[in-house]
Parts: sequence; structure tokens; C-alpha cells
Amino acid sequence: MHVIRGIRGTFQPFWVTLRNMFRKPVTIQYPEEKQQLPERYRARLILTRDPDGAERCVACHLCSAACPVDCISMQATEAEDGRRYAAWFRINFTRCIFCGLCTEACPTLAIQVTADFELAGRDLLKLVYEKEDLLVDHCGNNNSYNFYRQSGIGVAAPRGTNPGETPPADVKDLMP
Ligand code: SF4
Ligand code: SF4
Repeated sequence: MHVIRGIRGTFQPFWVTLRNMFRKPVTIQYPEEKQQLPERYRARLILTRDPDGAERCVACHLCSAACPVDCISMQATEAEDGRRYAAWFRINFTRCIFCGLCTEACPTLAIQVTADFELAGRDLLKLVYEKEDLLVDHCGNNNSYNFYRQSGIGVAAPRGTNPGETPPADVKDLMP
């Protein structure tokens, strides 16, 4: 029994080598050839816009709170119509581990992952991305969601005119 196992143990590696010698190589000649990545691959982060073209980010800080390596920072500010946005928004990609937790935490779908993994560089400061490097002019993977139309009442449209929203109560009607 030991002899048979020994013979099999000796010849099996040769058989594996022989079999793979005639297989088509799977090596991809990167960067000339690009690999087809899965749709949900997590790489470079972007800040998207809503269908009206406005910035989705409301500078709520939830993404930076959810980030396990603390690589997102921003400063919140407010427009005249009450719409919040980030005066500046920064992601330090030298620390990012591409876990996607920030995208899970984002209530407005502003921050999204893309499959663009070509971020490497020798100058670490160039991997600190500012808002102008992150903000894109499209909606990313959701073409319909507009946070302010769902919950930002009084900003995208007057109170009571957003879909599924009841008009505000007239407090004078509530008098006893
Ligand atoms: S992907 Fe993860 S590590 Fe990178 S910014 Fe988002 S939460 Fe932080
Ligand atoms: S990207 Fe999303 S979670 Fe982060 S501050 Fe903006 S709205 Fe909030």
C-alpha cells in the first residue's frame, strides 16, 4: 500500500506539469491587455451627481465616520437655498483599503466605487485626491436617485410638492 502511494506521489506532479504544458496560457499582458473586471469590483472612488446635475454629496460626514482607516475628510457648507454641500472633500488613497464601507454608509449615493484600479504612483501626495479629482459629471450606477427629492424637502421643490410628500401642517389649525 505504501509502495503504491509512493509511486503515485512521484508521478502525480509530473502528470500535473505535463497536462498544464499543453493548456492555453492565462497570462494577461498588462498594460497592453486589460483584464475584464467584475461589475462590482471595488477600486477608485468617485463623487457623483444627481439626475438634475447637482452634486449629490450633502457633506453629512457619514462616509468618513464609516471609513475604517480614516482617509476621508471634508468641510460642510450650505448654499442659499439650504442645500448642503462639501466646500472641500478629500480622499487619501494611500490609506484606502477599497472596502466600500463609505459607499454603504452614504445616504445620497454620492460616493461610489468604480473598477478603475490604475491608481498606483510613486509620489504619495499625488494619491491624495481633492473634490475636483473625485467629482464626475454623471450619476454613476444610479440614474434616478435624487436625495433632495426624497428627503430634502423644501430644497429641490417647495414643501409638500415632492413625490409621496404630504403638505406641511398649518399649525394654526392645530389650536385646541
Ligand atoms: S473604500 Fe473603505 S477605506 Fe476606502 S475610503 Fe471608503 S471606507 Fe475608507
Ligand atoms: S459622500 Fe455621502 S456619506 Fe459622504 S459626506 Fe457626502 S453625502 Fe455624506
